[in-house]
Order: sequence, then C-alpha cells, then structure tokens
Amino acid sequence: MKYDCIIIGAGPGGIFSAYELVKLNKGMKIAVFEAGKELAKRKCPIDGKKITSCINCKTCAIMNGFGGAGAFSDGKYNITNNFGGNLWEYIGKETALDLMEYVDTINVSHGGEKTRTFETGNTKFKKVCLEHDLHLLDAKVRHLGTEINYIVLGNIYNELKDKVDFFFESPVKSIEYVDKIYKINIDNINNDTYYGDKVIISVGRSGSKWMEKISSDLNIPTQSNRVDLGVRVELPAEVFQEITNELYESKIVYKTKNTNDQVRTFCMNPHGVVVNENTNGIITVNGHSYEDPKLHTKNTNFALLVSLQFSEPFKDSNGYGENIAKLSNMLGGGIIVQRFGDLVSGRRSTKARIDEGFITPTLKATPGDLSLIIPKRILDGVVEMIYALDKIAPGTANMDTLLYGVEVKFYNMHVEIDKNLMTKYPNLFVIGDCSGVTHSLSHASASGIYVARYITEHK
Ligand SMILES: Cc1cc2nc3c(=O)[nH]c(=O)nc-3n(C[C@H](O)[C@H](O)[C@H](O)COP(=O)(O)OP(=O)(O)OC[C@H]3O[C@@H](n4cnc5c(N)ncnc54)[C@H](O)[C@@H]3O)c2cc1C
Repeated sequence: MKYDCIIIGAGPGGIFSAYELVKLNKGMKIAVFEAGKELAKRKCPIDGKKITSCINCKTCAIMNGFGGAGAFSDGKYNITNNFGGNLWEYIGKETALDLMEYVDTINVSHGGEKTRTFETGNTKFKKVCLEHDLHLLDAKVRHLGTEINYIVLGNIYNELKDKVDFFFESPVKSIEYVDKIYKINIDNINNDTYYGDKVIISVGRSGSKWMEKISSDLNIPTQSNRVDLGVRVELPAEVFQEITNELYESKIVYKTKNTNDQVRTFCMNPHGVVVNENTNGIITVNGHSYEDPKLHTKNTNFALLVSLQFSEPFKDSNGYGENIAKLSNMLGGGIIVQRFGDLVSGRRSTKARIDEGFITPTLKATPGDLSLIIPKRILDGVVEMIYALDKIAPGTANMDTLLYGVEVKFYNMHVEIDKNLMTKYPNLFVIGDCSGVTHSLSHASASGIYVARYITEHK
C-alpha cells in the first residue's frame, strides 16, 4: 500500500497534521498508524474496586490510542510561548501563537463551544506573587476539561475517519528510506509493510524509546534533554480557590535561597483528581480535573517540579528520573503519599496518619516517606516553595497537605530537525513531544498544523 503521507502516532501532533492535510489537500492519500486503540475502546482497567493500581497493560489506555497522552487529560490548552515547549525557537513566536490560536478555534468548533478561557493579563496575583518572591508566568488557557476534551476528540475522529486510513493497534516497528520512498514496517502478526512519500513522526512521550532507536537506525543526531522531578500536592480546593477561580491554571516560579534552583507549579487541577501515569512500565503521578461540576472533588492538586539537566560525564537526564521513579515503585509498589506534616517532622506517613488527616486522598497510594526517595536538594526546594506558596494561598503548608511522589516529567531527547521540523531526510518530519521540542497539547497540535501546511506548500 502506498500513501502520499504517512503519520505515525494519533496524539494531538498526528491528529492535527491529518486534520490540516485533509482540509488543504483534496484527495491526498493519508494513513495514520497508531500503537493504541481507537478512542471508544480506550479503557484503563483500574476501577478502584477489583483493580486498584496499574497492571502494566501491553499498551497503556491512558497514554496510547486516538488522542494520544492527551485524551484523558484535563484538556488545559495553554496558548503561550512561555511554557509547554520551545516550538517558537523553530517557527517564530508569532507563528507559534497564531497556530495555537487556530487549533483552539478547531477545538471550540468541535464541541468546546461552552468552555472558558482564563488569562493572566491584568491579574492582581502577579503583584501578590512578586511580593513573596514568586513569579507568575503569562498565559492564556482554555480549560476544556477531561470530558469535553474527549467529546472534541470524538468529533474530530468522526470527521476524519472516512478521509484518512486509520490503523489502530498497529505500532510501527521500523522505517527505511529506499529509492526516495519511505518503507514503514508494522509490528503485527502479518508484519505488514506500507510505503509513503512523506512521513510525519508524532509518537509522543510513550514513543520515546522507539524514537531513540529510529534516530539511531537512521543516523539522525539527538541531544539529551532535561527531566523535571518533584511531587504532586493535594489540598482542600478552598486554599487555592481565589487564584484558580480567576486564573484556573497558574504557573508560578520560585528560586530557592541557597541553591538558586527554580521550583515551579505545573498542571493545576482545581477540584480535580490525582492519577497514576505509566510511562514504559514506570508509574509516576499526574492529575486532571473535569469541567462538569458534578464530577468535581473537594481537592485541588498541582505539581511542584525542579528541572535537571545532566551533561558530563553523565548525560541521561531521563534515566536519572526513571531510576528515582523506580525507587518509589520499589518502596511503595507504585505511588507514595505523605502528609506535609510528616515530611517536615522527619517521619513516614502511615495509613492511620493519612486517615486521621482532614484531606481525603483522591488517589489510592501507599503511605510512606518521600525523603527516602527524592534527593535532598530537590525535596528541600519543594518544601521551601510550599512555605512560599503558603504566603499567597494560606493553608498550603498545613500539616495535612498531601504530597504524592514521584512526579516526573520526562522530555524526549532533542531530535535534530530544521526550521521546518524536518530531519536531514527529505520529507521525514518529527513533531510533537517525541521531537523534544514540545511538551503540551497546544505546542504539539501547533507543530502538526505547521508541518501539514509546509507539506501542502511543497507538494
Ligand atoms: C495524564 C496527563 C495529563 C496531561 N494534561 C495536559 C494538559 O492538561 N495540558 C497540556 O497541554 N498537556 C497535558 N499533558 C501532556 C499532553 O498530553 C502531551 O504534551 C501531548 O499529548 C503530546 O502530543 P503528541 O501528539 O506529541 O504525543 P502523544 O499525545 O503522546 O501521542 C503519541 C501517540 O503515538 C503513539 N505511538 C507511540 N509509539 C508508536 C509507534 N511506534 N507506532 C505507532 N504509534 C505510536 C502513542 O500510542 C500515542 O497515541 C498531559 C499528559 C498526561 C499523560
């Protein structure tokens, strides 16, 4: 089978490439190969009753399938160059913002009509933060919410499914470049082979190991990226209510006094839930929240993260993060939860101590001691930031505040691509999170549109 364009991965990067290619190119033959299942069949087996923790499915329903890692995410669509990736370094700040805005209009017209945007523009919290040595980053965010995000994806799929050949449960094994054409080998029982003139790789974070292998097979240079390590904080929603009501998501940065490390808030989920995340068999913590008030919890959660990048002689930032996550998986069988009070008192949390607290955890995690897992420098930074946040959101440093560990944001290594997001091979593009350039729904989606338009202009 031969296609004009083959897209590998049906996350936001892949989906929006397909969307724009279909829109701009009547009759173009496009195929999408996806390791996971179609949207309606994605179901994590954790039901909280029979199955309470991750059982390491062959493909993780949370990370893989139509919609990619974003399908069950909170759908916080951040329109900003300040975080979420460095796409602007390749395509320019204005173009990056324009493309993010464009994708936002697609989301809105496909089911997100009733959702709201929040802006940091003239908020009083900027000054309040500065008074306490905290820095609020500028952004505009649309909160789709987990359930609307799902509806939007469903509507986009319905629109595309008759115009694009989707192959689910079809992980691509390898790519060969033979006689100016790409040969795509599928890892299924028939070992199917397809051919494409142009290939867009968008395999996300879950495809990081595969991307590493492909880069090495094709001799495409790569560079190590950073890793973000820390905890997820869960507290009563009232504590952050004033901030979340106005801004929904606030990215606040703090510089620690002794080490000058930057600690930052990440992925804030008012009235949300804390969840497990499985990346290549390693369980880390994450969070999301629903738009529908009926699905709201009494808690708000957000991550506190410190970025680390290694250079010489050790370069493997992700490996460092992985090993710390493995340590928590070894000690806790998955995620560990600890009361802030227990952490600062130098004792482990126990089930009894958690049960006696005033906060009901939204994730079933193992009570334990995070100081046995997270390096002192990082944990000190997290504790220092919790005290700093306590000044703008009193109650953050309460003894019952829950800390889940570890939260790790793995970044794919940087794949060498040019300003068109193309590798040294003609018409072989690497976009979205697997390029190491993006790490958000908005930047990944924008990169898909960008490449689709480039392909259209250079047919
Ligand atoms: C729980 C959670 C919550 C999140 N919340 C937010 C949020 O609120 N806002 C935000 O901006 N970002 C959020 N993110 C991050 C966001 O989801 C990602 O940045 C975004 O999905 C990246 O898009 P992508 O297309 O690059 O990759 P992905 O979404 O990871 O998609 C890649 C796809 O490629 C497939 N694939 C992998 N390898 C292969 C292969 N060999 N062959 C075929 N297919 C393959 C995978 O199955 C996957 O479906 C969240 C992530 C998680 C896990």
